[in-house]
Amino acid sequence: MMDRMIAGKLESKWLEEYPLLKKVVQTEEVYWENPSWRPYQTVADALPIKQGEIDEAAALFQRFIPFFTEAFSEAELPGGKIISPLKGISEMKKELEAFYGMDFNGDLWLKCDNELPVAGSIKARGGFYEILQHAEKLAIDHGMIEKDGNYAAFHSEKFQSFFAKYSIAVGSTGNLGLSIGIISAKLGFRVTVHMSRDAKDWKKEKLRSYGVQVVEHPADFSVAVEKGREECAADPACYFVDDEDSKALFLGYSVAARELEKQLKENNIQVDEQHPLIVYLPCGVGGGPGGVTYGLKQIFGDHAHCIFAEPTHSPAMLVGMMTGMHDKVSVQDFGIDNLTAADGLAVGRPSGFAGPMVEHLLSAIYTIGDDELYKLLYLLNRSEGITLEPSALAGMYGPYQLTGNGQKLKETLRKSNGRATHVVWATGGRLVPEQEAKQFIAEGKRLMNE
Ligand SMILES: *Cc1c(COP(=O)(O)O)cnc(C)c1O
Repeated sequence: MMDRMIAGKLESKWLEEYPLLKKVVQTEEVYWENPSWRPYQTVADALPIKQGEIDEAAALFQRFIPFFTEAFSEAELPGGKIISPLKGISEMKKELEAFYGMDFNGDLWLKCDNELPVAGSIKARGGFYEILQHAEKLAIDHGMIEKDGNYAAFHSEKFQSFFAKYSIAVGSTGNLGLSIGIISAKLGFRVTVHMSRDAKDWKKEKLRSYGVQVVEHPADFSVAVEKGREECAADPACYFVDDEDSKALFLGYSVAARELEKQLKENNIQVDEQHPLIVYLPCGVGGGPGGVTYGLKQIFGDHAHCIFAEPTHSPAMLVGMMTGMHDKVSVQDFGIDNLTAADGLAVGRPSGFAGPMVEHLLSAIYTIGDDELYKLLYLLNRSEGITLEPSALAGMYGPYQLTGNGQKLKETLRKSNGRATHVVWATGGRLVPEQEAKQFIAEGKRLMNE
């Protein structure tokens, strides 16, 4: 094989320096404990985003509640709030313990972002936030509203015709496009979504039904983003949502941490030295899981342990973190094809913003094969009656990966003596058409030989 130059170093050198990378390149499942993890107190002061900024992001969502209740029905968006339930899934825990022959040493919960209103995925958090803060800024700059005004005004003829002068563009594998497209169209923006080849037809059709312009690219995510970025740059009235480098998306996701804190309290779940909180997050570019991790570490410090999950064929964040090169390397550089059934995670290059933000906060990253995603999808459906999209199951493999391959965290878990709380982040699935959902379940069942 030819020895390629990757980010200024020969591939053979990279593989020599990072032996686990060999398995990653061969698309084998791996578990990687982050050597750059640091005790929270030693890095807290140097973190660039403070809790105050996250609280401000939460306050923006509050200001927009009157807009949400005007623009959407109560059934579509209950109470005008972008929040999701936390559910105990003890039946799934039993299934997993039996299937993998393991012991959780704690309870299993599902953070159901698949149920987030309107967009049906975690992208409702980041995507809505970025568009709302852009709309708010435009409206304030043009003297149309003040922060203590009634934001129901955003759902008016006057605001709609104002926003029609501006456009929004985004590149997406599907879910970010859904989230950005729907909320932008509701506000009256002209919006274009550049979809990668992974994007499902039903997601494109849904967007078109909202009047969103969908451009299909027969290429991967990075190309879709690049095309969108180029097209938007030529138009001064265009705002580009850059999933590869966005602080706003990151902030929108981080708001979820306070929500989870509240829900843990409501369920009398303690988080402290004796009661570790372990959170498993499916990762694409890293903005979603990165934002949540950032928020959780601000609240719980070393008592929260965040683990990212990626498909074996799209380990973008893992390759970026392991080599320390972040967005300067892609999985394709290492000959990995970025082809996976987990369309929400089909990303070859990590966000240049998210990776460095969580470098010292993230505990571990593991990878999971597509077949395993389908099996877990089937098991969750059978045990709890919950149906997710394949991407959203990536976190469900975490407890098994951790108990099998973890080192530091495995010890933390053992010492917790059954008092740990495992939270699997379910990132999407509510909008999947019934026919496709049935096919997912059937595929999982087939793979289980049942
Ligand atoms: C986007 C997405 C993720 C991951 O978010 P990133 O910001 O890309 O890391 C996880 N699951 C689903 C279903 C998604 O759509």
